[in-house]
Amino acid sequence: MNKLPNFNELKNILDSNRISTGESVRTLHSHDESFHAPVLPDVVVWPHTTEEVSRLVHWAYEKKIPVTAWGAGTSLEGNPIPVNGGMVIDFNEMNQVLAVRPEDFQVDVQAGVIYKDLNKKLSNIGLFFPPDPGAAATIGGMIGNNASGIRTVKYGATKDYILQMVVVLPDGEVIKLGNRARKSSAGYNLLSLFIGSEGTLGIVTEATLRLAGLPANFMAVRATFPEVNNATDTVHQIMRSGLSPSALEFLDANVVRVLNYDRQLSLEEKPTLLMEFHGYSEHGLKEEMSFVAEICRENGTITLDQGLGQTERSRLWEIRHQTVESIKRYHPGLELLIMDVAVPLSHYSEMVVFAKNEVSALNAYIFGHAGDGNIHVAIMDDPLDKKKWKAVEEANRKIVLRALALEGTCTGEHGVGIGKCCFLPDEHGSSLALMQRIKNFLDPDNLFNPGKFFRM
Ligand SMILES: Cc1cc2nc3c(=O)[nH]c(=O)nc-3n(C[C@H](O)[C@H](O)[C@H](O)COP(=O)(O)OP(=O)(O)OC[C@H]3O[C@@H](n4cnc5c(N)ncnc54)[C@H](O)[C@@H]3O)c2cc1C
Repeated sequence: MNKLPNFNELKNILDSNRISTGESVRTLHSHDESFHAPVLPDVVVWPHTTEEVSRLVHWAYEKKIPVTAWGAGTSLEGNPIPVNGGMVIDFNEMNQVLAVRPEDFQVDVQAGVIYKDLNKKLSNIGLFFPPDPGAAATIGGMIGNNASGIRTVKYGATKDYILQMVVVLPDGEVIKLGNRARKSSAGYNLLSLFIGSEGTLGIVTEATLRLAGLPANFMAVRATFPEVNNATDTVHQIMRSGLSPSALEFLDANVVRVLNYDRQLSLEEKPTLLMEFHGYSEHGLKEEMSFVAEICRENGTITLDQGLGQTERSRLWEIRHQTVESIKRYHPGLELLIMDVAVPLSHYSEMVVFAKNEVSALNAYIFGHAGDGNIHVAIMDDPLDKKKWKAVEEANRKIVLRALALEGTCTGEHGVGIGKCCFLPDEHGSSLALMQRIKNFLDPDNLFNPGKFFRM
C-alpha cells in the first residue's frame, strides 16, 4: 500500500471505540505464537455482525487494502500475520452462541466464540464440540486452519463438524454454504473449499457446528517403553486391533525430561504413550484396558499406569497439557519452531526415528498425535543466530521432505501460513496451479490474507 487511506471513514461502519490505529493494538496483532517475524497492520477493527464485516470488507475492497481475519492469534506458522499490513478484522467481539439445538446435536455460533467456552456451556446438556487444538482458539481460527488435536483420532478434525457457514467474500458479498442435514450430496462441497483456507478466500462470520454426545465413562493409560520403536509399534498395533482410542499421544524422553523439570514430576524419562478410551460401562472399559495392557506388554512396556473415571483421567493427562509452554519455559530467550508433519500410520515409526536422528544436535522435542500419524518436532533456538537457525531450518526441510516422500503432508493441523508455503509445490504438484486459479477467481486483487499459500 503506497498511501494510507483515511481510516476515519470506518466510523461510518463501526463506533470509533471498535477501530484502532494505536501502536500497542497493532503490535498485538502483528504476530502469532510462532517465530515468524511480526508485521504491523495499519488498522484493527472489531465488528459485531456479519453485516458490519461485509461493509468493512467492501470498504477495503474499494480501496484495495489487504484484509486479514484474526481469531485468537494462536497459530504456529504465521497464519494470521498481516504481511502486507492493511486491516485486521478481530473476531473477539463476535462471540455469541446464536442457537443451541440439542435435539439435532447442533449449535450456531459467531466466528469469535472460543471453543473451550463453548464446550463449558454445552456440558450442561451432555454435548460437546470435539476438535481441540489445546490453545484458546476461536471457531473462526479453527475453521481457518482446519484445526484438530488430541481427540481427532476418534472424532475427526474441524472439517468434520461444520455443517453450515456464513462467509464474506473479498468484495464484501455474503454467502451461505451448506445446510443443517447430517449428510448431503448436493453439488460441489464448497464448505471444504473454505475450511482450511486460512482466510485467503473468504471470512467466516457464523457457523453451524455438529456436536457429539459427552462420553459416559473414561479410561486413561500411560505406558513407557525402552525405545522409540517399541512405543510407535504399539501405536500401530492398537490402531489395528479394533480398539478405538479417543487419544493416542506419543512423547519422546526429552519431552518427559522437560515436563519433570517444569512441573516437578518424577516420571520415567523414556518414550511414552498416553491413551484415552471412551465407553459406556466400566465393565467394557476394563476389558479394553486388559487388551491394551497386553499389547503394551508384548512391546516391552516398562511402566503401565492405568485408571478408570474422570479423576484418574485428569491425573494421567495432567502431564500432556501445556507441553509446548513447558518446553518454552525450559529455554528462556529462545524461539519455537514447531513442525507438524503427518504420515500414513504404517510409516509412523520410521518417520519418528528419522526426525529424531535429524535433530539430535538441536534443542529438540518430539511428540504428537500418534494415532493420526501426526508428529510435532519442537525446536528451540535463536532465529537471529544465523548459523544456528540455518541448522534448524535445514532439519525442518529434511523432515518435511521425508514426510512427503512417505506420501504424507507438510502440515497435519497447523496450516500453511508463512512457514509451509515453500513446501506446497512439492506436496501438491500441478494441483497447486488449480488452487492458485481458485484464489485468483475469488480474490483477483489478492486482498485476503496475502502472502500465504502462494508466493505472489
Ligand atoms: C500451545 C499451542 C498448542 C496448539 N496445539 C494445536 C493442536 O493440537 N492442534 C491444532 O490443530 N492446532 C494447535 N495449535 C495451533 C492453533 O491453536 C490452531 O491452529 C487454532 O485453530 C488457531 O485458532 P485462532 O483462533 O488462534 O486463529 P488465528 O491464529 O487467529 O487464525 C488462524 C487462521 O485462520 C484465519 N482466520 C481467523 N479467523 C477467521 C475467520 N473468522 N474466517 C476465516 N479465517 C479466519 C486467520 O487469518 C489465520 O490464517 C496450538 C497452538 C498453541 C499456541
